[in-house]
Amino acid sequence: MAVIDIARAQQTPETPLDVDAIRRDFPILAQTVNGHPLVYLDSAATSQKPRQVIQALVDYYERHNSNIHRAAHTLAARSTELYERTRTRLAGFINASGPAEIIFTRNTTEALNLVAACWGGGHIGPGDEIVVTQMEHHSNLVPWQRLAEGKGAHLKFVPLTPTFKFDLAAYAELLSPRVKLVALPHVSNVLGTIAPVAEVSRLAHEVGAVVVVDGAQSAPHMPVDVQALGCDFFALSAHKMLGPTGVGALWGRTALLEAMPPFLSGGSMIGEVQWTKSTWAPLPQKFEAGTPNIADVVAFGAAIEYLERLGMERVRRHEVELMRCALGALREAHPELTHYGPGDLDFRGGVLAFNVGHGAVHPHDVAQLLDGQGIAVRAGHHCARPLHSVMDAPSSVRASFYVYNTTEEVDALSRGLDEVKRVFRRVIERPQ
Ligand code: PMP
Repeated sequence: MAVIDIARAQQTPETPLDVDAIRRDFPILAQTVNGHPLVYLDSAATSQKPRQVIQALVDYYERHNSNIHRAAHTLAARSTELYERTRTRLAGFINASGPAEIIFTRNTTEALNLVAACWGGGHIGPGDEIVVTQMEHHSNLVPWQRLAEGKGAHLKFVPLTPTFKFDLAAYAELLSPRVKLVALPHVSNVLGTIAPVAEVSRLAHEVGAVVVVDGAQSAPHMPVDVQALGCDFFALSAHKMLGPTGVGALWGRTALLEAMPPFLSGGSMIGEVQWTKSTWAPLPQKFEAGTPNIADVVAFGAAIEYLERLGMERVRRHEVELMRCALGALREAHPELTHYGPGDLDFRGGVLAFNVGHGAVHPHDVAQLLDGQGIAVRAGHHCARPLHSVMDAPSSVRASFYVYNTTEEVDALSRGLDEVKRVFRRVIERPQ
């Protein structure tokens, strides 16, 4: 008999998330840190995991564990079916044309390196241009630097507007038939800037370039439809979307993936093997050499299921409301903070980077004082060092929100900053 989830059936994109119920699924949040309730505002680095994901891992090892795609026994068939179920679920989650377009990797970084090596290796040549943006995470910059260096190609950078948005007009100016590849983050991990990927893809395709999207900060936080985005490759990490560490994925268009050579070689990715030559398995196996991270892929399926049950429109709305509340509260209570990122929330994910006293207080000191009050934020360059030169700051403090965060936690952050200002009052008041 089919079980009807009444609460879900009645849910619309406008229905607010039931954050109290969500928090009960995250055992890690129910602890005190340094004598205070934990306020976890570091989900852009990695998200916490609900019981459903943790239980999927335990279940897998207690009941199903076996290697996949090989032996003809029941556990192997079951493990294979669970592993492939995640592929199918992820394909649906991002609207891929089919599961064979999903390649499991270790993380976003590996997925981007796969494209650089296997697509870039065959298509980039001397004098070609690769367009990236000024807001790249190092994972979507260094692989293109290495590719350009190895091939005698050139990197070009799309600037940000003065309000930290993607500068579409400047991007259009950079495009020419020399541009073979455009790589950009869907959402910046520092500024929260949401890039206009559909428009970027349309313009790139007019000059014959392929588009690679770093979706590490979008797939966890908003609906993603790779067909609507019009891109050619999309990379993501499970650990930022309620799933385990050690799993990521690359989505690519079938025709591109089929034409690419393998990434790693060895077991599982072959068709025929002879003494001196071999042929490759069809997609997606061609790109999944060796025994994959089976258990974590299976548990990633539980994370996607959890997000699907919440509804990604609702997840996005929740974060917009938290960001609205945070920007309002911090601007009112702490006018001396320097904020980075678009003020327009239609162009902004749930990431809030700032400095205290125009950078007079070191971000590590801010983070340490907040940690003393149980508040977990990140300090540093957040793997986006060149971007910080555009922000005119060597580093910054970053608070980031997710489905389990509350407006009370935004208030806690604001109170925590009162304490930072009390301790560093003299430094902040010193003329700059
Ligand atoms: N790109 C962006 C925008 C990110 O935020 C991150 C993670 N901080 C990455 C890429 C790399 O992700 P991973 O470390 O999981 O490979």
